[in-house]
Amino acid sequence: MARVMIVGAGGVGNVVVHKCAAREEFSQILLASRTIEKCHRIAERVRSSKVQVAALNADYVEDTVKLLKEFRPDILINVALPYQDLVLMDACLEAGVNYLDTANYEPPGEAKFEYSWQWKYHDRYKNAGLTAILGCGFDPGVTGIFTAYALKHYFDEIHYLDIVDCNAGNHGQAFATNFNPEINIREITQPGKYYENGNWIEVPSLSIHRPISYPDIGMRESYLLYHEELESLVKHIPTIKRARFWMTFSQSYITHLQVLQNLGLTRIDPIDYEGSKVVPLKFLKALLPEPSSLAENYTGQTSIGCYISGVKDGKQRRYYVYNNCDHAKAYQEVGSQAISYTTGVPAVIGSLMVVHGIWNQPGVFNVEQFDPDPFMKLLGDLGLPWHEVFEPLPFEEN
Ligand code: NDP
Repeated sequence: MARVMIVGAGGVGNVVVHKCAAREEFSQILLASRTIEKCHRIAERVRSSKVQVAALNADYVEDTVKLLKEFRPDILINVALPYQDLVLMDACLEAGVNYLDTANYEPPGEAKFEYSWQWKYHDRYKNAGLTAILGCGFDPGVTGIFTAYALKHYFDEIHYLDIVDCNAGNHGQAFATNFNPEINIREITQPGKYYENGNWIEVPSLSIHRPISYPDIGMRESYLLYHEELESLVKHIPTIKRARFWMTFSQSYITHLQVLQNLGLTRIDPIDYEGSKVVPLKFLKALLPEPSSLAENYTGQTSIGCYISGVKDGKQRRYYVYNNCDHAKAYQEVGSQAISYTTGVPAVIGSLMVVHGIWNQPGVFNVEQFDPDPFMKLLGDLGLPWHEVFEPLPFEEN
């Protein structure tokens, strides 16, 4: 029986608490977040005697250490924001607790994310005999595990990887983001970037796009974005010659985003407003709907997968593995939309891998560095069934 502390009471936190409460492996769950009312709301919905709540501003390491030492969890699941990754990793080291997150660190003052800051913790975690698992949501997360699974079972070498992410859902709002608006808009407005033959190629934001076919959904315009799992996957699978990430956006979403950018509302540098400092993007976040509030009337589904090609026994081979997740079904089950659901479920499975002693290697790791099989086995059981397609594939990789 294990104890788990979850930090962050947003859309993803809600799913993680529901799913942990449903697993007999977790005997006690502590949900800690900045706004305690949000923790109470989730606990009321979950209705499990295993769930306790606490107020915590995770930016203060000593407060987190105190809570960790009192509650003594086996693992901390960080589903707050990427800004909290390093402070929570510091607190876990000090309190002797394993760590898992779903998004890599980015400094608040610069819209730039990369793994280098967190990879630097490897020796400290190793020496402390603790495990830190980075990026264990869906993308990053399951996309890395899908790739590791393909390599283990179907390829001697992977050469081309295209991760494709479609949200074909409708939440009925003119403009809203499906996860934290600040993090989401920072990600999308960055230059696009992909990996080819040992180089990173940077292109203007949303400048490369093409229609891609998604199972049970059909063709959707998909935009090349830089996404964090590309960095770890090309490092850990060095035979990859090209790795790209694609995400669908509607024309209405892109138009709204362009207008917001043109108005300066996506800026992350503070401006003076009547004697106060205001960060326009933080102000915009305050105006936009909370991701968790979109869930109730969301219809349609998400579809995320990996198109992979390479060689097996000297022959070229192509393969696609994916999951589709229905917004309304996710809402019925846990009161969340599919983006939160597809992020929260893998975080819980990653934690189960650690508490079961399957992925509890000391050090800091990305998910593709572990055996994918036990994770893939649980993925369908916990609500994210996956499917494989062998040639012919609906997408050509050139
Ligand atoms: P939300 O904005 O809905 O929730 C974030 C929560 O973190 C809020 O409850 C917020 O509290 C809390 N929080 C923020 N700062 C602090 C702090 N200093 N101390 C304690 N709590 C804090 O975001 P989501 O649930 O949509 O996303 C959660 C994480 O999941 C993000 O890091 C996001 O990038 C990641 N993600 C990963 C995906 C993947 O597939 N890998 C996909 C989608 C999201 P408050 O309410 O007070 O602001």
